[in-house]
Amino acid sequence: MTRPIPTLTDLGDVRGKRVLVRTDFNVPMENGAITDDFRIRAALPTINWLTERGATVVTASHLGRPKGAPTPKYSMDAVRVRLAELAPGVELLENLRFDPGEEANDAAFVERLVQGIDMYVDDAFGACHRAHASIVGPPRTLPSAMGLLLQKEVEVLLGLRNNPKRPFVAILGGSKISDKLGVVEALLAVVDSLVVGGAMCFTFLAAQGYPVGDSLWEPDQVDTCKRLLAESAANGKTIHLPEDLVGVDATGRFATFGVRLPEGAKGFDIGPGTAAAFSDVIMEARTVFWNGPMGMFEDPRFEAGTRTVAQAMADTSAFTVVGGGDSAAALAQFGFADDVDHVSTGGGAALELLELGDLPGLEALRGAPNA
Ligand code: ADP
Ligand code: MG
Repeated sequence: MTRPIPTLTDLGDVRGKRVLVRTDFNVPMENGAITDDFRIRAALPTINWLTERGATVVTASHLGRPKGAPTPKYSMDAVRVRLAELAPGVELLENLRFDPGEEANDAAFVERLVQGIDMYVDDAFGACHRAHASIVGPPRTLPSAMGLLLQKEVEVLLGLRNNPKRPFVAILGGSKISDKLGVVEALLAVVDSLVVGGAMCFTFLAAQGYPVGDSLWEPDQVDTCKRLLAESAANGKTIHLPEDLVGVDATGRFATFGVRLPEGAKGFDIGPGTAAAFSDVIMEARTVFWNGPMGMFEDPRFEAGTRTVAQAMADTSAFTVVGGGDSAAALAQFGFADDVDHVSTGGGAALELLELGDLPGLEALRGAPNA
């Protein structure tokens, strides 16, 4: 048995204490303005829990990829303004990744982070799969706990992994192909079937011998896809792939295709037949995990597949979980964000927790002095 992860009540009395809360304020920005404050609002239950009990809260987060040096574009100023509106009096440190010590998990940087701090709370699920200084450092010395957001994420995702109602279906799409191929194998061990759309599908289609034109695919991953297809078949699991596609032809004109793409064509969405078939799988499932849009939904010509899948996620009676920044954005864009059971704040972290059943950030909390 692994040790339990301490929760907020395991901190004891927080009155008068300075509590460092590692949040995930990595919000989408455009021209210096926050386009969606979901991640800031998501941290409020934990912040309020602490302030209501008399703690002083100091929040800290990364934003973007500033590569270890102060970068005006990635300053926390806009987040600080929004946070002050939502939670007056709560402090926010500067972007953690302005210091190379954050990503390097440097001991001296941890030392500076915890100076004057009495307790540590991790509520940054989206960063828990990284062994960065602000995630794994403070629990080595400070009484620590997971925040309410992190606690909910862990409960939901470990529930999926350890005890899902079956059939359990995972739907994968998006564009981070080789990143996500790693988890396909692990997912295949826990799901009953896997549905693959988005740019992900082209490497699988290529593995089946279909021409994919100029679509986004990864030739060096074809062998992996071949192996995954063979293994899943041998284990009685289905990998559902598109049977029709939507995109542009070699002249750049909108076109619909079967499963073979002509030379120069690009697939940007699953076709209507595929979208209907994927919906059926979702409707018949009892647990569904969705990560990655089915197409380039930012372009209205290529949003239909993602919209249909989002609609099915809203309509099915299955327990539904969505992970991934762009998948969550698509769900919100189509107005279904409130119609699924859980929208995860972490894409990579959700996949890794499903894959491995643990994360460096959780392991660190289990080792805290109060655990
Ligand atoms: P998430 O953030 O949900 O984990 P990803 O970041 O992996 O998802 O991928 C999201 C991106 O994938 C979107 O910007 C979308 O436009 C892109 N995408 C999906 N399908 C395709 C495709 N067929 N060709 C190119 N890009 C695609
Ligand atoms: Mg993304």
